[in-house]
Amino acid sequence: MITHQEISLLSNYASREGVAISFYLNLDGIARGKKTWEAETKQLLRKARAELDWLNIDKKLAQTAENDLKKIQDIIGSEAQTAKCKTLAIFVSSSDDFCQIYKLPVAVKSKIILDTDFYIRPLIAIMDGRYRIGVILLDSQTAKLFEVYMGEIVEHTEFYQRIEKDQKTTLETFMKRDKHLMQRKDERIKNHLVRTADLLLAHYLRRHFDKIVISGHYPLIAHFAHFLPKKLQENIIGKIEIDLKSRPGEILQQVNKLEQEYICRKEEILLKKISDEISRDGYAVKGLNNVIQALHSHNIRELAVADDYEAGGMQCVVCNMPYLEGKICPTCGGELVEVTDVIDEIVEEALHQGAPVRQACQSEAMYNLDKIAALTKFKPGEIMKSLYEISPDISGI
Ligand SMILES: [Zn+2]
Repeated sequence: MITHQEISLLSNYASREGVAISFYLNLDGIARGKKTWEAETKQLLRKARAELDWLNIDKKLAQTAENDLKKIQDIIGSEAQTAKCKTLAIFVSSSDDFCQIYKLPVAVKSKIILDTDFYIRPLIAIMDGRYRIGVILLDSQTAKLFEVYMGEIVEHTEFYQRIEKDQKTTLETFMKRDKHLMQRKDERIKNHLVRTADLLLAHYLRRHFDKIVISGHYPLIAHFAHFLPKKLQENIIGKIEIDLKSRPGEILQQVNKLEQEYICRKEEILLKKISDEISRDGYAVKGLNNVIQALHSHNIRELAVADDYEAGGMQCVVCNMPYLEGKICPTCGGELVEVTDVIDEIVEEALHQGAPVRQACQSEAMYNLDKIAALTKFKPGEIMKSLYEISPDISGI
């Protein structure tokens, strides 16, 4: 499973002199068998070779890049069949001895990109908005805890063992103290729900997950939600009616659906907020040019971009700032070079500036926002105005 640190390593990577090759191969679905992958790989590599010819780079570097393409073909030949994932992503730049392979749990469009840095937008789209979800599965006597992250599910078996042990101890205590109390079923269930809630809180505080799904049978799971402390209640993203004996795969399928719905709700709220701000000349911008300008002023609070939006542009080789056109970076004086997809560079720069990025799938709302838009920290000109108030001399700069 790819981590945030690995994405950060890839995003900060810049080839000293050679070509950085990013390769994504979609392995998803029954219809996409070995033959489809191989044909697609060949086609993508052909495209890359044509691009290499066109780039007209140093012969030695071109040969290294050609070897890297062969390496990708070999990796696909040996890994794709047994990969057990939906996308195989390969990042290679032999001139810097760099080669990383990732098996992604989400289907991504097949693609090859040759550049001086790696193309990580699909990775960010996968990571972005993905939550680490704690799934509590309970009945009136016991409980299990699963963790779902990026399409994978694991059980925290120690949770179940602890619940079972506590249940046994409680029963023994009741037996010794008061046989009548032990016979009161409602009292025992209440005790079980309180213990489960306590244990769940302990896991949450150890940052095992940040969102919660409650699963089991109604009305018990609805009751259980009331036993949770407020900070856990606020993070419940849904409830699932499912049996305690269900297989992890079944649970995962339902949790993925809930997560997707939750992401869509969050996305809707963000896009509406941006539209509202724009319609009242508030704290938001839309359109490629305005978003790039806001980036130049370090003025992006949250970025939203249509997931299929791509556009050519320029990037500074020194400070990495994206531009639509030009030859020299006005910020640092560095040279501007052409990039295939300036949106990728915008996404990277926004993340670098600490702004969350949402690659939105709601095409109509994104279309109305010119496919790229952002909430901003201040209105254009606002900072300069306040700087002028601090020091009137600034107007002469
Ligand atoms: Zn620059």
